[in-house]
Amino acid sequence: MNKITISDITIDVVRKEIKNLHLSVNPPDGKIKIASPLRIDDEAIRLFAISKISWIRKQQNKFENQARQSARGYVLGESHYLKGRRYLLNIIEEDNLKGSQIVVSNKHINLYVRNGVSVEQKKKYFIEWYRKELKHEIPVLVDKWQKKIGVELNGWQVRQMKTKWGSCNIENKTILINLELAKKPIICLVYIIVHELVHLLERYHNDRFIDLMNKYLPNWRFLREELNSFPISHGEWTY
Ligand SMILES: [Zn+2]
Repeated sequence: MNKITISDITIDVVRKEIKNLHLSVNPPDGKIKIASPLRIDDEAIRLFAISKISWIRKQQNKFENQARQSARGYVLGESHYLKGRRYLLNIIEEDNLKGSQIVVSNKHINLYVRNGVSVEQKKKYFIEWYRKELKHEIPVLVDKWQKKIGVELNGWQVRQMKTKWGSCNIENKTILINLELAKKPIICLVYIIVHELVHLLERYHNDRFIDLMNKYLPNWRFLREELNSFPISHGEWTY
């Protein structure tokens, strides 16, 4: 991989066996990448990037806005998500409470904590809670889809990951699932589990992989769209 710089913008360039130049701005921080066909030289790539500079700046602004919005203060009335539903945060402070308790009601996520607990601590309680919620859902889904697909995992884990919704270690037959999925509709979790399980049959995202996804989860493209609707941005131009 090499880099090109245009004014204050650094772009990673990756050359591979593709037909067209492909420009993308990627989460979580708006890193810019150009995938280029092997035959195209640096100067042509630079010119291509310059011609897209206003689009790049616009996408980067979107990422900045998103980052600002997603910074959580864990204050009363703030929006938080669970399984694709939005709730308002309610904080109930009690004097002698050890740890925390989170109770979901119709419109609210009620966080019970001791008086004066820090934002960092509240964040930790939330992460713990999301992990618990996700760990409650995963076993049933893994069990169901293993049987359907005819594979068997040795194990799975929930992880906080910045750029991936899930991953599969084919040798160990284990999968990692992004903690963020706790906030998304369950069907998105299904999509990631099925995707990772299908990797046990096919390592690469090739035609065979797509055929298998079409077979087991015909609406997977829609679910992928749903999952990546933000903040991933893509643009493609013919060179
Ligand atoms: Zn994959």
